[in-house]
Amino acid sequence: MGVDRSGRGDWLTTRVDALANWARKNSLWPMPFGTACCGIEFMSVMTSRHDIARFGAEAIRFSPRQSDLLLVAGRIAIKMMPVLTRIYEQMPEPKWVISMGACASSGGVFDTYSVIQGIDNFIPVDVYIPGCPPRPEAILDGLIAIQKLIKQDSLSHYKPPLEEAST
Ligand code: SF4
Repeated sequence: MGVDRSGRGDWLTTRVDALANWARKNSLWPMPFGTACCGIEFMSVMTSRHDIARFGAEAIRFSPRQSDLLLVAGRIAIKMMPVLTRIYEQMPEPKWVISMGACASSGGVFDTYSVIQGIDNFIPVDVYIPGCPPRPEAILDGLIAIQKLIKQDSLSHYKPPLEEAST
């Protein structure tokens, strides 16, 4: 990125990729999919004490079509997995996924037939947050990890939706 320091005007040069990534990483719209105690812990990062708004991610959405960050918090039962998969598929590109806590990432203590032993068996996960439950600071750390991924991203990775591609 270049900035004019000649005093003849205010301008800068950059790449479209860098500009889009800068905007995206600082304006994430998370969709929490909380099914258990981790979901309760996630609520604490929304408080003024932890202030997720510092990272531009305070616009929580409960519609996948308005979200670009899926945050899975809690154990996922086998019967719930089709719902989670459908939500993921309804999110527009580009999108990212955080698996929060031991249960979402590996089933945690629920080593049983009815609980999914890691959501990454069904949907791609970008960042795993360890803990049972993870502390709010760990959740923010996971968010920063997503921002770092976005910073390295390229617009060329994404295909336009089918309707646009056909015109
Ligand atoms: S990881 Fe721990 S805190 Fe999170 S949902 Fe599982 S049992 Fe609850």
